[in-house]
Formats: sequence, structure tokens, C-alpha cells
Amino acid sequence: MHRRRGGSAHGQRREAARGLGPVLWTAGEGPAAARIPRICNAHAHMDQQRAAPNLFSGSNLDRLATERGEPGWLESARAAGDTRYVVATRGGLVLLAAGESSTVALLEREHPLVLAADTDAHILLGAIDGARRVLIEAQGEPHPGTGLAYCELRPAVASLSAQDAALAAYARGLALWRARQRHCGVCGAPTASLRAGHVLQCTSPACRSEFFPRIDPAVIVLVTDGDYALLGRQPGMPPGRYSTLAGFVEPAESLEDAARREVLEETGVQVLELIYHSSQPWPFPSQLMLGFHALADRAAPPCPDVDGELEEFGWFSRRDITSGAIRVSPPGTISHLLIASWVG
Ligand SMILES: [Zn+2]
Repeated sequence: MHRRRGGSAHGQRREAARGLGPVLWTAGEGPAAARIPRICNAHAHMDQQRAAPNLFSGSNLDRLATERGEPGWLESARAAGDTRYVVATRGGLVLLAAGESSTVALLEREHPLVLAADTDAHILLGAIDGARRVLIEAQGEPHPGTGLAYCELRPAVASLSAQDAALAAYARGLALWRARQRHCGVCGAPTASLRAGHVLQCTSPACRSEFFPRIDPAVIVLVTDGDYALLGRQPGMPPGRYSTLAGFVEPAESLEDAARREVLEETGVQVLELIYHSSQPWPFPSQLMLGFHALADRAAPPCPDVDGELEEFGWFSRRDITSGAIRVSPPGTISHLLIASWVG
């Protein structure tokens, strides 16, 4: 392992860097400054990587947000012959048309699953080339032999196009949120659908609280120092696999605060520089992953207090990764992209 390599060459300033306060290096001096051109170069490379949207994002769907407030949106959508219906269960399974390459099932209005759906459980997803996509809550099983099946998104994603993966992720995220917000969090009364399904409002006249789709921001950070990256593994990960460091943003924290805190809590390593990379919706159930590249000093003594969330962590070289000595997160994850954009 390349764990926690120590050293003391930088004296008092390093001691400052170990604490929770601001790092005391100033521009033009110290190891952090010496490495800034390196992270800037990496950033230029990242710009090329960011040209392609992360998995589950970059949908070509027009979300039609201005139509959500129109009282007749559902009648209008039903009347249009080109409207297609996407089906999801309360557990977040999405109806797919199975095949060598799967697709999100786009049902016509006469389909039994569409006819069976509650009016209150129709959600306007948007439109593609002017044809609306409406999410409905599953009220039955598809007929056997039709090739349709409710599927978990994660294992199915490899056989979906990027656009269908984004559509399925959108449907899954909304379906899970609505299933978990059936009652008011303030008074406990049932909620009812508003704004084409994108708001759930408490039905108690004395309360009327409104609830919006839940998104939980989480930072994910690739920490590097020269040719080495700081990676960790949680219990339960496949043998030999390591990942970037991640954690949820807490109240009254900026993304930068959260990134610095998570790295420090999980590994005892003080982040010196941070650069935002890109983000990825991750509807399992409701995360938005916000990816960063970070610089740290591999030789600095780590803070001794770590939270024990990781089973193991350490500094790994590019060669450790490219040679297959360790495995990293699979393609399609922002963790993989962060590492790939650094390895080059
Ligand atoms: Zn209420």
C-alpha cells in the first residue's frame, strides 16, 4: 500500500495546512504554488472531456416548464396523437422494451397500462421534437410476450442509448420522489399533484405546504499529487476496486467546504487546491454528484482522525491504474471520468 507516506520537509507551514484553517501558502511560493500549472494543464484536458455530457445528463428533451402551470396540460397531451407515455413503478423501475439494445418503452394512449393509470399520477416530462413524453405510475404488469419489462436502471444502462438513459433517469428520479412524498412532511396529511406532477402539495387546508423534487448534492473528488492519486475503498466494493472520495454536502456548506471536509474526514489529507470538473445526476435515489479535481501534498503528515468510513485508502500511481494493478469505478460514473481525465 501507498498509505499515508509521511515527511516533514516543509516545517511550520505544513503544520498549518494540517489544521482546519486556511492554507497559508501564498501565490508564487510553496509546493502548492509549484503544482498549480499542473492542475491548470489538467483543467485544459478536462475541458475536452466535458464536451461529452455525463451519463444520465444531456437529454434532448425540452422540459416544457412553462406548460406545467397550464390547467389543461393533460387534456392537451392526451388529445395529441404523438404523445408517448413512459411508465415507472413507485420503486423506480422503468418499463423498457427489451432487446439486444433496450429502449425506454414509449406507449401510445390506447395501451392498457396507459388507460389504467390514475389521472393524478400523470407527470409531464417534456417533449422531443414537439411530441410530448408523459410519465405515468405503473398500475399493472405488461402482457407477457410483448417484450416489455420493468427494469432496474443501473444494470440496464449499458444497453440503453445515452438519450434513453437520460430519459429513464428523469423518470426514475421523479417516480421515487413522488413515492416518498405521498404525505406532508409538516402535518402528515396526504399530498396531491400540482404543476403537471412536479409539485406535491399538502391537502390540509390549514397547511398547504408544497414539496418539490428532492435532489441531494454530493461532492466527489479526485485528489492528486503529481503522478499519484488518493483513492479509497468502502466495505462491500468488489475486490481490488478503488474509487474517488465522495460525500453529501451538509447544511451551510459550500461545495468547496464539503469537498475539503470529506477528504479530510475520510483520509486525513488536507486539500490545497480545488477545481470543479462536471456534474452527474445519479438517481439512486436522488443524488447530484458534483465532481472536483483537487491537489494535496502526498508527503504531508495526515490528520490522525479519520471517520472510518473507508475500509482502506492510499496513494496510487498512474501506472497502478493503467496496468490494472487496481481497478477503478466503471465507465459511466463520474468517478471513472475524473480518474480518466487525470490519467490522460
Ligand atoms: Zn401539511
